[in-house]
Amino acid sequence: MTPEDFESWSRRAADWGAEYRRTLGDRPVRAQTDAGEIYRAIPTAPPQTGEDMEAIFEDFEKIILPGMTHWQHPRFFAYFPANAAPVSVVAEYLVTAMAAQCMLWQTSPAATELETRMMEWLRDAVGLPGGFSGVIQDSASSATLAAMLVMRERALDWQGNTRGLAGGPVPRVYSSDQVHTSIDRAAWVSGIGQDNLIKIPADATGSMPPEALDAAIRADIDAGYKPAGLVICVGGTSTGAIDDVPALIEVARKHDLYVHVDAAWAGAAMICPEFRPLWAGVEDADSITFNPHKWMGASFDCSAHLVKEPELLVRTLAYQPEYLKTHGQNGIINYSEWTVPLGRRFRALKLWFLLRFYGLEGLQAIIRDHVRWSNGLCERLRNTPGVEIVTEPSLSLFSFRRDGATDDETQAAINKINDEGRIYLTQTRVRDRIAIRFQAGSFTLTEPDIDIAYDVICDGLGLTERTAK
Ligand code: PLP
Repeated sequence: MTPEDFESWSRRAADWGAEYRRTLGDRPVRAQTDAGEIYRAIPTAPPQTGEDMEAIFEDFEKIILPGMTHWQHPRFFAYFPANAAPVSVVAEYLVTAMAAQCMLWQTSPAATELETRMMEWLRDAVGLPGGFSGVIQDSASSATLAAMLVMRERALDWQGNTRGLAGGPVPRVYSSDQVHTSIDRAAWVSGIGQDNLIKIPADATGSMPPEALDAAIRADIDAGYKPAGLVICVGGTSTGAIDDVPALIEVARKHDLYVHVDAAWAGAAMICPEFRPLWAGVEDADSITFNPHKWMGASFDCSAHLVKEPELLVRTLAYQPEYLKTHGQNGIINYSEWTVPLGRRFRALKLWFLLRFYGLEGLQAIIRDHVRWSNGLCERLRNTPGVEIVTEPSLSLFSFRRDGATDDETQAAINKINDEGRIYLTQTRVRDRIAIRFQAGSFTLTEPDIDIAYDVICDGLGLTERTAK
């Protein structure tokens, strides 16, 4: 591609992106294609000779676009959001144009030093004290894996990397049964194993009872296991469950456990001081992760990982062959020594653009609206005859179903709602029954979109009586 062609296609892509965002609300939120449709539309082999960009771009629009689910859609109420505010997309364009591999300080000092400063900004923004240092991980899953590897190494006297796990003490990690699957997978990948991730059932408040945690740890010690760590849940994926942070950390401290907090979704809300009581005491944890790529507007991927003692991450993960050393510069950070992957994208730039563009007040206003609108919808549904609220709002997430519906009927209602296209919702399982999950989190969401959601939900559930706002 000549520089002139690169310029013209970059402009074309930018124009396309702007038009896409402008008209996004008119598209069905979830892809309406059948399994295999896109795959079959792609030739079985690559072309032998290069093709014209016009044809490639045309096929992108014709074949790919219909198979996209629109995560930036204002009425995306499924899973958790993955907001990519336009300002962060602009920053990503610059990052992609430079395409630096920022694994070490010297491979782009600006990337490392901006990352250090952005993690300080985020730490302060969510009300954490200055003792925390941060790194941007690609995902909360990676942050949790890194934390669990620290738990393992710390418990095995830093011998696990060298000797493996066979024959030594068996490390145990504890969490509630409300944690995300990334905690299970971190246990698998770290070699700790599913059987040594002890899931303590959450009580009616959504927290694991501290006395049950204490009892489980004591029983493990008596049985010869090595308690290594605790994963605290702040905003579980299913229903937004939140652990009793100070009570659990108190138990963990008694038994010298490393404490990691997974606040992948809920952590962004902590930029609003009024929500911070939900994780009061979190400053006593060792490691905390939350995703600016979920509810804060930084395009995927961008996961903040804040730790009290980065030396423990470095001791667990750093490997320094001669070719990766930086000589002649003191006090530098090589963030790849804090993470499992060596290669690193320049992720801090989009945070810098985002935080400067909105300011904290701008971001707080968006999150506050989401929580308020979601709570409002929950009340409206509660007052609508035939609706059962299954779990109460946790920030902007709650769940419901048609009163008395079987699982098949609830799932059929969800499918009907998503096929209709104006909104997108997903299901979860609560006390072994399917419930419909609703979370408000799209940066483009407006209050009238919530009214549309109410109508589509009532139609999907077959409700005739409506409640006014
Ligand atoms: N933790 C929670 C509570 C989540 O909801 C999710 C994903 O939705 C994750 C962790 C994993 O996040 P990531 O996709 O960044 O690995």
